Amino acid sequence: LMDTKKITKFRTALLRWYRKNARHLPWRETTDPYAIWVSEVMLQQTQVKTVRLFYDKFMRAFPDMQRLAQADLQDVLKQWEGLGYYARARNLHRAARLVVADHQGVLPADRSAIQKLPGIGDYIAAAVLSIAFNQPYPVVDGNVKRVLARLFEMDLPVNQAAAFKQFYAKSAQLLDPRRPGDFNQAMMELGALVCTPTKPHCDTCPVHLTCLAFDHGTVHVYPQKIQAKPVPKLHLAVGVVFRKDRVLITRRPPEGLLGGLWEFPGGEVKSNEQPEKAWVRVLKQAVNLTVTADRFLTQVTHAYTHFKIKADVFMCTYRSGTPALAQAVDYRWVHLDHLDQYPFPKANHKFFDALLAAVTD
Ligand code: SF4
Repeated sequence: LMDTKKITKFRTALLRWYRKNARHLPWRETTDPYAIWVSEVMLQQTQVKTVRLFYDKFMRAFPDMQRLAQADLQDVLKQWEGLGYYARARNLHRAARLVVADHQGVLPADRSAIQKLPGIGDYIAAAVLSIAFNQPYPVVDGNVKRVLARLFEMDLPVNQAAAFKQFYAKSAQLLDPRRPGDFNQAMMELGALVCTPTKPHCDTCPVHLTCLAFDHGTVHVYPQKIQAKPVPKLHLAVGVVFRKDRVLITRRPPEGLLGGLWEFPGGEVKSNEQPEKAWVRVLKQAVNLTVTADRFLTQVTHAYTHFKIKADVFMCTYRSGTPALAQAVDYRWVHLDHLDQYPFPKANHKFFDALLAAVTD
């Protein structure tokens, strides 16, 4: 525990540093709660540098709550394409509709009301309430936990859910109640720019005088982590089925991983299964079409949170059948030129260039 004097010193040093060194980011130039909410939803699972590539475009497409609420989910997903964790976009859209229906289009500035909205958990609620409404809720994300672990030499693993409470309590103790929004952003910014995961810049750190790990020379020991389980690896086959000049795409169910996105159909390959046989079989199973396998196109890999995939992408020709969908909820035969009208997962985008090159050969 720090005494009151030290805490005051810490706050002053941190906030002064933040004023001088904070990156200029579009969502820091606004006081509009809607704009801040959108940015925090994007930032929750995505790095600042990636969010920067998407944020302005998204805000131009949906500049206010009303426009987002009126939008088609497909258009929202299209704007979100590439940001990943698509449940965030679906929840944002649903929440906007509820805010318009129940709160006159204005995000509620009340913790229990705001947390009733889909997708708004502890983190987003604290971030939005502190930044947009100046309410004293501490924000605890990965950056903040790392900073806290070092400041206080906390032995709790940062990636263990049970430890969250202690990190929250420490953060609440430090939080500047007069400027909670700046304080929270300053803590996150310190973690992103100075108190970095590897090689933190302690020599230029504004709070090193109040950092126990720095004082004791134990910075390299923190933060502590529990060993994560190895992630399963899936081997998939994904088919581009040509029927004259069109290809088949299918839509994933609205909920769950990559919900509502479009993709090329496919399925899991069995070990020792011959590639061409696997290609024909996965399409029969996924969409009940009979095809002839033409050629291997490329292999793509992608890492999701809980598993990794390796997908063999192949091209084939439609022979017979009407699509009957095993898991997908919709399908279309589309021109390759029109693929960009549909939101696709990143793992699909990874082979689009190869596909376009192959058909223009
Ligand atoms: Fe992090 Fe080093 Fe600053 Fe401590 S002194 S908060 S370890 S950067």
